[in-house]
Amino acid sequence: MKLILLGAPGAGKGTQAEILCDRLRIPTISTGNILRAAVKNGTPTGLKAKAFMDAGQLVPDEVIIGIISERLQEDDCKNGYILDGVPRTIAQAEALEKAGILFDAVVSIEISDETIMERMAGRRVCESCGASYHVVAVPPKQEGVCDRCGGKLIRRKDDAPETVKSRLDVYHQETEPLKAFYAKRNLLKTVENQSTVEATTAAILKVLEA
Ligand code: AMP
Repeated sequence: MKLILLGAPGAGKGTQAEILCDRLRIPTISTGNILRAAVKNGTPTGLKAKAFMDAGQLVPDEVIIGIISERLQEDDCKNGYILDGVPRTIAQAEALEKAGILFDAVVSIEISDETIMERMAGRRVCESCGASYHVVAVPPKQEGVCDRCGGKLIRRKDDAPETVKSRLDVYHQETEPLKAFYAKRNLLKTVENQSTVEATTAAILKVLEA
């Protein structure tokens, strides 16, 4: 299964990707997590990406295309993968297509901007492995500590309300057109965000079986 998860920042792509990768036994590839690790480690890619990320803007397509092409060649991607947060522009989608990287389905998680703004205030992520939590909806077993790896949970700098607003604008302008791009290829499946994480997972699995 080669799957793309689409959706606004905070739609729950990361949370759903983590669950689906366990269920489907395929890796999740999140360009956001790869970039945050690069920033933390001070690599050349991290240095290029940091200012864009802090401002809630997209990192240039050529940087992303380089990262993703390299990652998809690794052994664990042989039987499929879930892409979380990529592609995010038509240029990225076209580059993947040109490189012969094709998909079985593209699932778009639909959620209002208002719900996103409320939700982002409570989001926490693991600074080591990138796993996502929410202080109310998806709390870790122990406050401030990642269930998966024991890493420290932090608030992302780009989850500040003004930055979330910019990220939503970028999503509507640059990423939302991907829905029409993949609908044309008969790959698009839309899922309404549900009131619980489990219900959204069930809705995704249902459209994937259909
Ligand atoms: P995310 O964790 O997916 O919300 O990504 C966090 C930030 O990383 C975004 O706001 C962008 O600055 C950058 N980023 C992640 N994935 C991409 C992508 N596919 N294209 C451009 N920028 C990206």
